[in-house]
Amino acid sequence: MEKLKKFITQDTARENESKKMAVLVRILCITLIVFFLFMTLGFFWVKINSAAVGNLLLAVFYSMVFVLSYLIPKKPLVWSFIIVTTVWASAMLWLFGPDSSFQIFPPFVIFIFFFASYDSLPYKVVFGICTFAVYHGMSMLYGSRLPLLALNTAAHRCVRDCNMFIMILCTCIAAHIFSKDNLKMENKLIEYNKRLQDKANTDPLTGLNNRGMAIDYLEDFVKKADEMIASICICDIDHFKQVNDTYGHDAGDLVLKAVAAALASTVGDSGFVARWGGEEFFIAFPNMNGDQAIDVLYRVQSRIRKILVETDGHNISVTMTYGLTEYDKMKTLTDNLKDADGKLYDGKQSGRDKIVY
Ligand code: GH3
Ligand code: MG
Ligand code: MG
Repeated sequence: MEKLKKFITQDTARENESKKMAVLVRILCITLIVFFLFMTLGFFWVKINSAAVGNLLLAVFYSMVFVLSYLIPKKPLVWSFIIVTTVWASAMLWLFGPDSSFQIFPPFVIFIFFFASYDSLPYKVVFGICTFAVYHGMSMLYGSRLPLLALNTAAHRCVRDCNMFIMILCTCIAAHIFSKDNLKMENKLIEYNKRLQDKANTDPLTGLNNRGMAIDYLEDFVKKADEMIASICICDIDHFKQVNDTYGHDAGDLVLKAVAAALASTVGDSGFVARWGGEEFFIAFPNMNGDQAIDVLYRVQSRIRKILVETDGHNISVTMTYGLTEYDKMKTLTDNLKDADGKLYDGKQSGRDKIVY
């Protein structure tokens, strides 16, 4: 079974459309070859030799299309498949008359063509019209004639239903292959977009939201109901340059990560935390006035003071200064950020390690 699968999906390592079509044509051909061989035996059994030979010929034609699927590009391959299928439909009409499930052939051929082709819609519509024209011409030509083979009612019904069965089976196979791949591709795309978005919104060192994401968050917030309150804070590690200068840049990075983790876990669901840039962070507290936000910040402050980052036998600890302001919807976003930044500056000027509100 594995060998057969490998053989059918050969040359499909790079999943592009034409390879998928080749695989579909191969599966349909194998199904139809088995069907026609079965029908050949059936007709020989009931001694309708001309129909048996006709079915054997169709098995040979589909075998040729199967071989071609390894040799020629998608477009001529699909056309060969459609031509052989049209020959089959004409033979049915000619041998058994219009009541041979002949009517299901045009929709099947159109279905295969529409899925297989990247051509523009008008081209596909022209194909649909031509298929109908061929169908109509053939039924005008043969419809009023007596079928070449006059079968008894039971045998005729058997041929008609066998045709219908195999066409339904082929349609199901084709529909399954196309829908399966489309769903797979869609899921891949959704996942890929999500990864891209995460990458664009996340600070790679700390894993926090980045500044762009913070601005998006604030812009969304501003668009919401006027009466909504919020507070925002910009905070900055004190004397961080000294940490780098004394213990090295890598140690500085560890401190940034530890601070980010402490901010994220302490603020938790009550706010939104982002890395604003360098050793500065941004916190938004939606639905909180300044008094409520400062309570959270006191907890943040005591947590940050407890951080101990170990490097080369040293324990590094840091403090931060915080500028907190209630978001004023009468002012622009930039002015609100300036307010928070101004308070952070005041905190730095007046000795650091404090919350200015
Ligand atoms: P202040 O208390 O006034 O904020 O002093 P400071 O030393 O913290 O501020 P300053 O702006 O003088 O220095 C900030 C330092 O942060 C300088 C820069 O090298 C360092 N820094 C910025 N981004 C990173 C980073 O991603 N990793 C590391 N290790 N250091 C960084
Ligand atoms: Mg600093
Ligand atoms: Mg700074």
